[in-house]
Amino acid sequence: MTLEELEGIAQQLAEPPYRGRQIAHWIYQRGAVAFAAMTDLPQAFRARLAESARITALSPVTAVRSDGGDTIKYLFSLADGPTMETVFMRYADGRRSVCISTQVGCGMGCTFCATGLAGLTRNLTPAEIVDQVVAVQRLTGERVTNVIFMGMGEPLANYGPTLRTVQLLNAPYAAGIGMRHLTISTVGLVQQIRRLARERLQLTLAVSLHAPTDELRNELVPINRQWPIADLLDACREYVSLTSRRISFEYVLMEGVNDTVELAATLGSLLHPARSGAGQRPSGPDANALWHVNLIPWNPVYGLQYRRPNPGRVEAFANALRRRGISTTVRLERGVEIDAACGQLRRTHGPEFAGVRPP
Ligand code: SF4
Repeated sequence: MTLEELEGIAQQLAEPPYRGRQIAHWIYQRGAVAFAAMTDLPQAFRARLAESARITALSPVTAVRSDGGDTIKYLFSLADGPTMETVFMRYADGRRSVCISTQVGCGMGCTFCATGLAGLTRNLTPAEIVDQVVAVQRLTGERVTNVIFMGMGEPLANYGPTLRTVQLLNAPYAAGIGMRHLTISTVGLVQQIRRLARERLQLTLAVSLHAPTDELRNELVPINRQWPIADLLDACREYVSLTSRRISFEYVLMEGVNDTVELAATLGSLLHPARSGAGQRPSGPDANALWHVNLIPWNPVYGLQYRRPNPGRVEAFANALRRRGISTTVRLERGVEIDAACGQLRRTHGPEFAGVRPP
């Protein structure tokens, strides 16, 4: 709930509006899961609140640590039974990042993804999305500084709840996380990218590209058949033009599938700053200059036959891009020993997968 909504509840229960701010502080910043804990509220008001409202709170089914405890992957269960994943990452520079889910499962069907394997169960509500951050703060005792919408699901396929979550995470009375510290990932829902561009938010957009040709992307990322690469890049240019924010193109590298230096060259020309392809709307002189490629060596998923490339192949691909003037990074590995692939922990620990668990 927003501050205005909490103030409305206070007034409905015959209290002054500022009680709403106190409730927001307890829920979002102190992680309170019961009204009884809100000790600066009058006791009678707490009792009235407990009769008329309820605080939902996620509790972990399992939590697995790696990187010396600096990465914790949580599997949370939801009230109606399914589970979802959230990852906490502690960095030496002080950042505390949380990677959150926006859906249970995912309907996009990317062929290399553990989450996509099981299909979409349902969208998460704004409460269930925000609560992942609140729960992680409560469980770790640490303040989250960055949030990445890159867990299970396609955030822009659950647009309204995702945007409401952004509003709440950014609000000073709630999580108070700077807009520039929020990253939304998308597999390339072109209409929603254009819609997001018009919100003119200063968040970061990460676009999952994974292939530089339509032929290959149609195979790996089925949504490409609906919105091919040219349409996607056109929407990305509009996003950069309206927000002046950099776009990060995510590229999962799979050996022998999309990791050859020839494909790196194709990707390099596709994203090159000087390129102005036919049919593409020029929308701002620096659009391509604000593009960045983030390479992610594939994390193994039970039941899938892809292979993770060795570091030499990854470096060769990265260098081929850099030689073409494309700003490129290789994602820092986190949580490799804890079912790092998104959706993998759910498949190995989620009760709903008990009958079909991989060996
Ligand atoms: S990679 Fe992302 S969009 Fe594709 S199936 Fe997996 S969760 Fe969905």
